[in-house]
Order: sequence, then C-alpha cells, then structure tokens
Amino acid sequence: MSSLNDIDSLGEIFRTHQSFALMSHMRPDGDAIGSQLALGHALEAIGKTVYYWNQDGLPDSLKFLPGSEKIQRPPAEPIVVDVAVALDTATKVRLGDSCVHAASHATLWVNIDHHLSNPLYGDENYVDAKSPATGQIVFDLIKAWGFPLPAETRDAIYVAVSTDTGSFQYASTTAHTYRMAAELIDAGLDVGRINALTYDNHPFRRISLLRSLLNTLEMHADHRLACWEMTDATRMELALQPDDSEGLIDMIRAIEGVQVAAFFEELPEGRIRVSMRSKDASCNVCDVAMAFGGGGHALAAGIRMTGPLADAKEKVLSALEIALQQGGAAWNVLCKKLRMAYCWSINRPTWHRMMLSRLRGGHSIPKKLVIAAR
Ligand code: 5GP
Ligand code: MN
Repeated sequence: MSSLNDIDSLGEIFRTHQSFALMSHMRPDGDAIGSQLALGHALEAIGKTVYYWNQDGLPDSLKFLPGSEKIQRPPAEPIVVDVAVALDTATKVRLGDSCVHAASHATLWVNIDHHLSNPLYGDENYVDAKSPATGQIVFDLIKAWGFPLPAETRDAIYVAVSTDTGSFQYASTTAHTYRMAAELIDAGLDVGRINALTYDNHPFRRISLLRSLLNTLEMHADHRLACWEMTDATRMELALQPDDSEGLIDMIRAIEGVQVAAFFEELPEGRIRVSMRSKDASCNVCDVAMAFGGGGHALAAGIRMTGPLADAKEKVLSALEIALQQGGAAWNVLCKKLRMAYCWSINRPTWHRMMLSRLRGGHSIPKKLVIAAR
C-alpha cells in the first residue's frame, strides 16, 4: 500500500503497531533530530516501544533537547520492530546503510518528509513539500491523531521548525507555522531559553571555521553568486564536528545582490559535499542539485559528488551560473533532454566546455550531444 496524504490510515498504523524504529538522515540537523524526538515521545506517551536511530548519532549542538540522549547510532544487527519510520529524509540512501540494515526486519516502512525531491520510497508515504519542516508535519499529524504532546515533543517540534525556517524567516513560513509556535508556547515552551540554547551557544570552533571560510569567499556571476569552501585539512586543523558549519551559509546568502550561495566541503573520504541556497524560487537550486544526483528544496539543496574540490566547484558553479541567467529562466527552460545532455557532459571535459560556452552564449546545443545523453 502506498498512499499519499492519507492522515487517517497513517494514524491507524501508529495506533495498531507496537514497536517503531524512528530514523533520520545522516549528518542530522535540527529538523531531523527534532522530528524523531517529537514523534517518538508522543508514541512513548501512548505506551509504544520506540528506538531512535541516526547513522551519525546526536550532534553536540542538539544535546540540550530533552530526551535527546535516546538518539543512538543503529545497532550492528537488525532489531525486530513492527514499523520503520524515516523522517526528514529525501531518499532512503540518506538514512545510511547501517540504519537501513538495523531496520531491515520491519514489516512496514513509513516515509514522513517535506522534500520536493522525495521519490516516495516508503510503503506508506506522507510527503508535504509545502511544509517548511518535517517537524511541522509531525505536529499536524500528532494533533490530527489526538496523540499527547509531552514536553519533549513540544520542545523538539519548536527547534525542528525554527532551525529549518532560519528562525521563522524563510518564505515557507506561514501563518499556520506561527500559530503552531503560539500553541507550543501556550503548552509551556520557554521560548527565550530554547532560542538561547539553539542560537546563542555555539562552540568557539564554529567562529574559527567562519574566519577560515571568509578567507575563501568568492563572488561570481556579477556578484549574484557567492561561494566559499572548506578543505579536509581545515576540518582536521580546527577539530571540527559536522554540525559546526550548520547555517553558516546564510551569511553569504544574506549579502545584498546575492541570489545564490554555495558551500563546498571536502569530506574525509575525498568526496565533496555541496550545500546551496537561493533567495527566490526563480532560481531553483533543487533542480541544479538533482542534475548532479543530489536533491532538497527549491531554495535549499545539496549534493554529494566526486572530487577533487576544484573540479566539483567548477561544475556546480557553471550550472549555477546558467541557472542564474535571465533570473533563473535559462535553466528552467532547458528541456529535459538538454538537462540530460548537461549531466552526460559533466564528466567529459571537451563536451562539457563546449556545452557551457553554448549555453552561456545562448546558442542551441549540438544535436549529437543531446542524442548522446539519451
Ligand atoms: P544542507 O545544505 O542544509 O545540507 O541541505 C539542504 C537541503 O538539501 C536539505 O533539505 C537536505 O536534505 C538536502 N540535501 C543536502 N544534501 C543532499 C544530498 O546529497 N542529496 C539529497 N538528495 N539531498 C540533499
Ligand atoms: Mn527538514
């Protein structure tokens, strides 16, 4: 059974089963961990058995969330659970192999998410791309099902939504989001305290990283594209944790005139993580991410790709420059075939250079190239 947006049948699954493995994407952020803790504590409050797994464990920056010590790396051997639930995870792969293995004895997979690019990989899928955060979906579901709202759930939902909306700032934030926040405050949330713990409590390492990133800042496309980068050497030198860079990209996105910001990070295994932000939907960074096998949302998306850093940067910046042409129209009007041709050319330097010069110059693409990409 795979149905979308059927709240009642999804509620039945949570009511009628007993044990749940709640999981979220690797390198978890506030929405990932917050959604797990929120749903898990509501389930525990009605007597269910809940496991909270994340391949990378709990980031230090979210240790203040009540109940967060329950977030564990998945066990090496599968545990028998009734239902596996993926939260805030755009593709099953993003859960990581160890989560997928640990939950492999589950009889049912549920996928609750807000990513536009989610391919509905669950047996039961609840994906609402309009929701600013998975935490808000969890809040709506808990309310619709009449489940309790323990303090752990209340605080976790607030942090999930606050961190995924840039503190209730992004365009995805709606009146409903603010009403939800008001309800959480009515339910006893200490808003000053939780915001201070979320935003005014960063390790010094993060500021050292900021200093290093600023030294790499580059502006492209007539100052409409800003990017910076972090090497693996910097990560080791500053003894950085994965969540130390969380949200820093917003600083360069916020530069006047900048439409798109990109952050390139060399991962320990030599692959490159790309994080992208756009200021308005005319330049859809999810489309660009998907061209490289990544995904996300129109205004916030990411990629994991092969290195070296300089190559990844050149390829992604070229695509972003095209995406920015004519206010984003150039990329959007690239037909599917052309996008495939673009992707095909990425690892073929001669073709790629020709493709880029043609695209930048507004010329049509050679038929041979389009055919090759089929
Ligand atoms: P961030 O830049 O904060 O890591 O991610 C921004 C958004 O893009 C998030 O919603 C995240 O789930 C998605 N995203 C980031 N990296 C990847 C990736 O490698 N693959 C996919 N499919 N989505 C990603
Ligand atoms: Mn999210």
